[in-house]
Amino acid sequence: MARIAAPGESGAKMNYQSRYDHWIGGEFVPPVRGQYFENPTPVTGQNFCEIARGTAEDVEAALDAAHAAAPAWGRTSAGDRANILNRIADRMEQNLEALAVAESWENGKPIRESMAADIPLAIDHFRYFAGAIRAQEGALSEIDEDTVAYHFHEPLGVVAQIIPWNFPILMATWKLAPALAAGNAVVIKPAEQTPASIHFWMSLVADLLPPGVVNIVNGFGVEAGKPLASSARVAKVAFTGETTTGRLIMQYASENIKPVTLELGGKSPNIFFDDVSSARDDFLDKALEGFTMFALNQGEVCTCPSRALIQEGHYSEFLDAAVDRTRAIVQGHPFDTDTMIGAQASNDQLEKILSYLDIGQQEGAKILIGGSRADLGGELAGGYYVEPTIFEGNNSMRIFQEEIFGPVVSVAPFGTFDDAIRIANDTLYGLGAGVWTRDSSTAYRAGRAIQAGRVWTNCYHAYPAHAAFGGYKGSGIGRENHKMMLDHYQQTKNLLVSYSPRKL
Ligand code: NAD
Repeated sequence: MARIAAPGESGAKMNYQSRYDHWIGGEFVPPVRGQYFENPTPVTGQNFCEIARGTAEDVEAALDAAHAAAPAWGRTSAGDRANILNRIADRMEQNLEALAVAESWENGKPIRESMAADIPLAIDHFRYFAGAIRAQEGALSEIDEDTVAYHFHEPLGVVAQIIPWNFPILMATWKLAPALAAGNAVVIKPAEQTPASIHFWMSLVADLLPPGVVNIVNGFGVEAGKPLASSARVAKVAFTGETTTGRLIMQYASENIKPVTLELGGKSPNIFFDDVSSARDDFLDKALEGFTMFALNQGEVCTCPSRALIQEGHYSEFLDAAVDRTRAIVQGHPFDTDTMIGAQASNDQLEKILSYLDIGQQEGAKILIGGSRADLGGELAGGYYVEPTIFEGNNSMRIFQEEIFGPVVSVAPFGTFDDAIRIANDTLYGLGAGVWTRDSSTAYRAGRAIQAGRVWTNCYHAYPAHAAFGGYKGSGIGRENHKMMLDHYQQTKNLLVSYSPRKL
């Protein structure tokens, strides 16, 4: 086991500034009202920097800068924008460990994940959209012999983006890369729990982008997010966060008839058919690994497989093995390279998860492992750690229906294929799902029947840039992560042209 140096320790690959203002027009700009708030690291619970507390005035200043930059940026060629995105990716790659340290320190996630997943995925995202925009073509319809309809892609202009705290740099990238590739200027509001890492990212790539193309306004939801989403000066609002907040965002944007895309919550089923246990082999091992994915990123993933449905024929033996596998999850200092589960992102989130551990027991669910705050002692005593927890219960319980967003899985048995689909779809959400079976026909039929935007089949928690990602039902509107999402950041201009010499 090795320990990567954290900010403030000797040998650290990065250190945060003690204060972050807004980033507007290519420079730090203090908040108009002069207020700041403290930003603690979940690793220890100690404050490490203060953050400008944005208000409507700061949002207006950022929109001024974005509008000033948008026309020229929108006129750059797709090739030039692609080159810039590729340079951003290169710069990130050169600073991969520093970005990973920034992400883990602010969010609490294990360094091995931010090094192996969050930051490499973010880098790949810029490269993917650099390629996608170069490869994008317009369309032409032949109306008649002398008449042609040309379809051009145009940027929307200035777009608003509001992001959550669970993957601070990756969530920013999911929104920034396609918006910039499509030629838009952006005002982005990071989550108040994790605002500093995107500023560190910005400091690394600022010289590669014209001033005003990316602007960052920090602050709280109602104070800074609402004026941004309500503004008539944005052409679109892209939001990732809770379903309840998404409903508000739609209301704000509807006042100005602005389009929204929403990536919201989930309560994803992970279904294990009997044949998974028909042999003690690598497939079974992989499925057990898939079960433990509920603890990945401390369960703070919108697609957390938080409901495990196990077929009756192998229920007990599979569940026993799954409990053993969960016991082997290494929880510890997020900067130890063998740590698999770190700290929850905030004290509020810790409290919320602990309250669900109580709710589950009050509902009569049985705890098979975990069930408490994890006391790691020493310098981590003030950090926000929760034991990986398995509940056994039924799908009508709140712990099966409500998003806990922690390392907690609720397990129930099912009988037939139809039972599995019925339970899987008995939820407000429809973001992700997992299906585990050796039978390709069962896998295909289950995948098609589950009402979710992404069904992982014999895998889980993979997020390649070129696979569409997004929600059915209460999990959102629109898609991310695929070239099809360029449509969400572009207008279609149609030129209907007559080449005919005849009169009309
Ligand atoms: P949240 O909705 O509380 O906050 C998200 C963002 O919205 C933050 O920046 C916050 O400041 C802002 N916000 C809050 N209230 C607002 C308001 N009234 N007006 C404008 N902005 C407002 O969500 P969270 O707790 O930060 O994130 C966790 C949620 O995000 C979970 O529900 C999770 O499932 C979801 N999520 C979804 C995806 C996805 O792709 N579908 C990805 C990651 C997280």
